Amino acid sequence: MSSYIEAGGVAAAVESFSGRIYTGVCVDTACTLGICAERNAILNMITNGEDAIRRVLTIMRDGRTGPPCGACREMMTQLMPSRFGVIEVMIDYAAGKTLTLADLTPQWWLRR
Ligand SMILES: [Zn+2]
Repeated sequence: MSSYIEAGGVAAAVESFSGRIYTGVCVDTACTLGICAERNAILNMITNGEDAIRRVLTIMRDGRTGPPCGACREMMTQLMPSRFGVIEVMIDYAAGKTLTLADLTPQWWLRR
């Protein structure tokens, strides 16, 4: 990259309901125009004509996994407003722990 942009500190994989897996890396910029790995992977999925997420995995450079940030959770929720709760999120790969997006987003602000 350049001295203003770096990428790949975090990577993500999104499995769609069709079973295809889309990947993305985080892109960090000096002017906040970057994007998280999860949203990059989701946009890759959308670019390829799909709009339903089954599972999400996020992995840091050191190999640890963790939950998506609030912006990524919000994007997933807005993408699947009536069924975001079924999305499985790998919280801790080493421990085999997953949660659903419903677990992570119990009181979505746009829920009616
Ligand atoms: Zn994020």
